[in-house]
Amino acid sequence: MTTKSSILDATIADYIVNATVREHPILRELREETARLSQWRMAIGPEQGQLMALLAHVIGARRYLEIGVFTGYSSLAMALALPPDGYILACDVNDATTAVARRYWESAGVAGKVDLRIAPAAQTLEGLRRENVEPFDMAFIDADKTNVDAYYEAALELVRPGGLILVDNVLWDGAVVDPSVDDADTRALRDISLKAGRDDRVEAALVPVCDGLLIARKK
Ligand code: SAM
Ligand code: CA
Repeated sequence: MTTKSSILDATIADYIVNATVREHPILRELREETARLSQWRMAIGPEQGQLMALLAHVIGARRYLEIGVFTGYSSLAMALALPPDGYILACDVNDATTAVARRYWESAGVAGKVDLRIAPAAQTLEGLRRENVEPFDMAFIDADKTNVDAYYEAALELVRPGGLILVDNVLWDGAVVDPSVDDADTRALRDISLKAGRDDRVEAALVPVCDGLLIARKK
């Protein structure tokens, strides 16, 4: 199985995947279908799906909030990891790519766990805060990068103490350490790691898996 990493040498990245990843056959099918799309790089790699599933098991997650679904690789990996009474609230704005996700949730028999909201995530999150919903155990932020700080703040309100907030792409293909790159997406991703690193409300670690995953545990 070959994978992609923005940071690691391809041989090492493939070694990690081939040595340790046990991918559900339906996840593999979804990864292969997604690979045929021009935007395939938006999906997390299988080693990250497995890490997220492991984290869900470690904290006994039942309620998972996802911001940015695309064709559903991360949400399907999490739906398969959550217990039978697990619940996923998934936010996206794209009907076409989430139709692919729905198809795979169905074929894996986990569609009943997923509550997909098609609307700008800021609007969905604001609604959840107003409704005072039961707290989530884990949130994954992987949508429009300029809103990453707003999503982080919303997730901090919506996740229980001891729960996890994950932010994807925090290495942004290495752009975060290139001082000549100063576009809004790169700035937002740089800023969120610096903020979480100093934020007394969380303990954080930046893990160099795929394109960089920031893991923040709410105190
Ligand atoms: N987590 C997915 C995975 O690993 O397969 C990839 C998500 S992709 C990087 C980002 C997604 O965010 C896209 O599907 C896009 O439609 C969605 N998105 C962009 N802007 C958004 C917004 N304002 N609210 C909700 N979703 C948004
Ligand atoms: Ca991503």
